[in-house]
Amino acid sequence: MAKLYFYYSSMNAGKSTSLLQSSYNYQERGMSTLILTPGVDNRYGHEKVTSRIGLEAPGLPFCGTDDLLDIVSCHTEKHELHCVMVDEAQFLTRQQVFQLGEVSDCLNIPVLAYGLRTDFQGEPFEGSKYLLAWADDMTEIKAICFCGRKATMVVRVDEHGETVRQGMQVHIGGNDSYVSLCRKHFKLRFYASVNHSSSVSEDTSTVEICTT
Ligand SMILES: [Zn+2]
Repeated sequence: MAKLYFYYSSMNAGKSTSLLQSSYNYQERGMSTLILTPGVDNRYGHEKVTSRIGLEAPGLPFCGTDDLLDIVSCHTEKHELHCVMVDEAQFLTRQQVFQLGEVSDCLNIPVLAYGLRTDFQGEPFEGSKYLLAWADDMTEIKAICFCGRKATMVVRVDEHGETVRQGMQVHIGGNDSYVSLCRKHFKLRFYASVNHSSSVSEDTSTVEICTT
């Protein structure tokens, strides 16, 4: 029985490298894969998946309104398919995560989804939230904070290296860069200008952080 797998991490942990290696492993055994690349809303994703260490492979772009069960079903009518892989899976909608479950359960094709767990404000992405809820199997791909601890969070920085605290979850057209940090150093960066006297509030705009 096929499964829905979720590989999650912060930035620069090697998610795309891991996806491309898995795809290569299938192909090396004579099996075929389909790599899906999501866009945001009605924008399409990229036509290829690239990794920082130079690997790349063609991807099939889709947008937030596309039905992934339909896309995979149509693909299997023309091509034999042994595995579906999803890059940037944090951008999936709730419905699309459900559809990936259908690919696994109804088409009996394993699905490997790779994505960020949280955004630059420490909030869960929709796709990741439902993958964490519904995947059969979850694996963390580890990135390292500058302090040596596991980096589970990510901050957005502007062109001056300043931490960005407000804005869209996906800054389309923006020239953002991101830094992966452990939770402690995420809090020190993200809440740096907040005084330390108050406890955690509902909107987390004021939190108490330890500075030791
Ligand atoms: Zn740290």
